[in-house]
Amino acid sequence: MTDYDVIIAGAGTGGSTTAYAIAKKGYSVLLLDRKEKDKIGDKTCGDALGSHHVKEAQELIGLPEIPDDIVEYVVNGIDLIAPDREHRLRMQGPTTTGMSFNRLKMGQWFLGLAEKAGAEVMASTRAKKLLIKDGKVSGLRIMDSEGNDRDLTARIVVDATGATGMLRRQLPESSPIERVINKDDMMVAWRDIYETPEYDFETPDILEIFWNQEETLGGYTWVFPQGRNRVNVGAGVMTIKNHRRPQDIMKEFVEPNWDFYKTKLVRLDSSGGVAPIRRPIDTMVDDNFMLVGDAACQVNPIHGGGIGSSILGGALAGLTACKVLETNDTSIGSLWEYNPRYMEMYGSKQASLDVFRWFLLNVTNDDIDFAFRKQIIKASDLLDTSMTGKMKIGTGEKFKRLVSGIGNVPLLRRVQKIAHLMEDIREVYAQYPSSPDGLSDWQEKLWPIYDQAKKI
Ligand SMILES: Cc1cc2nc3c(=O)[nH]c(=O)nc-3n(C[C@H](O)[C@H](O)[C@H](O)COP(=O)(O)OP(=O)(O)OC[C@H]3O[C@@H](n4cnc5c(N)ncnc54)[C@H](O)[C@@H]3O)c2cc1C
Repeated sequence: MTDYDVIIAGAGTGGSTTAYAIAKKGYSVLLLDRKEKDKIGDKTCGDALGSHHVKEAQELIGLPEIPDDIVEYVVNGIDLIAPDREHRLRMQGPTTTGMSFNRLKMGQWFLGLAEKAGAEVMASTRAKKLLIKDGKVSGLRIMDSEGNDRDLTARIVVDATGATGMLRRQLPESSPIERVINKDDMMVAWRDIYETPEYDFETPDILEIFWNQEETLGGYTWVFPQGRNRVNVGAGVMTIKNHRRPQDIMKEFVEPNWDFYKTKLVRLDSSGGVAPIRRPIDTMVDDNFMLVGDAACQVNPIHGGGIGSSILGGALAGLTACKVLETNDTSIGSLWEYNPRYMEMYGSKQASLDVFRWFLLNVTNDDIDFAFRKQIIKASDLLDTSMTGKMKIGTGEKFKRLVSGIGNVPLLRRVQKIAHLMEDIREVYAQYPSSPDGLSDWQEKLWPIYDQAKKI
């Protein structure tokens, strides 16, 4: 007999969604977080979420509608802006409509859902050590709000501790789960929220993403209005060797170049954060153990959005956990089905965009300006890529037309090659193994694609 059916470390959107899905089926769930209860949900973020993610979770686990008082402003599209800042692509479609929201209220709402569904919430409680018995996860050592250590057992432990993946890192070496994430698969960012009483954002329903390879290599600057007189602004970069500090980018590049900085500003919040920006962890389960959200690298590698995918991950992990708890077999083989379900719904797209991320590292501002100017990629194509991970440009007649009409053949050829590699990796994901036995053979097929993408 264990203390709980499931212990979930981390009560962000990923952990809370998992807890909600499992607790509502009547299983005993402990959801713990190191933050004080009324601070859970407060985190460095762009505060933007696509509505399609919410709809998906409604269908999967009956997530209720997001209440209106959490939403700061409705989002109707995203502008991608070239380094020259003269050319932009407006993406408007099912994946780019959504909301800009109050982060703390959103987090509190998810926590409340889990609690109302029956999860026991322990705040100000730190997950300290993964307990292992006979080589398998058996529970968790926690430090409670009084500073006392306690060992708790569970049939399943879920790591939803966010980008640190602090339980994942403690798995035994024999685990098929990667414990450490490469630095160059992480992004680091700085974000400020201001009221701008003297500056009106003209299109507060459109989020703006600015590319500039010289300033924000492997990342971008975002300007996300939260109404006419409020903005969430930040800059993030990939943590490759010698990357710039995001605070320096804000000071030296963003502040001098955006007009609203020339007006009176009321700073509401400033902070830094990190997120993984790669394909999901290849297996997000082991015996009695699951990963959800940032801890499982369930983040879009191009725009760094991970709230929606952590909700999806939480919903799918929760559904699998309920099924497995019923059969009384919580081995990796039983928990496995969470992997292919997530890979099919989102992981394959993440992998494809991850390949594209490596390509983007090797393009210049001139290349991007050219691509925008000549409309090599149209907004509708990009929208399609963001929805499906498929890039349309790379094949057939259309490419021939581009070569003859536009020029810059070397760049076009490189774009064509990367489009093929994105297609290749999606094919590999279509063959994601149906049991743990096939994992290492499957992984062997992934790595050569990355090797090629890094060289284009
Ligand atoms: C600068 C920045 C901007 C972003 N902007 C957006 C955006 O606009 N839209 C979007 O969709 N995504 C955005 N993201 C990504 C998004 O914030 C994450 O992907 C998402 O919050 C992941 O949810 P999660 O539940 O996995 O992790 P988190 O929300 O990080 O939750 C993890 C929880 O675990 C707790 N925890 C950690 N360690 C322990 C421990 N040892 N014991 C107990 N509890 C612990 C933490 O206190 C935290 O509450 C952004 C990320 C960054 C860094």
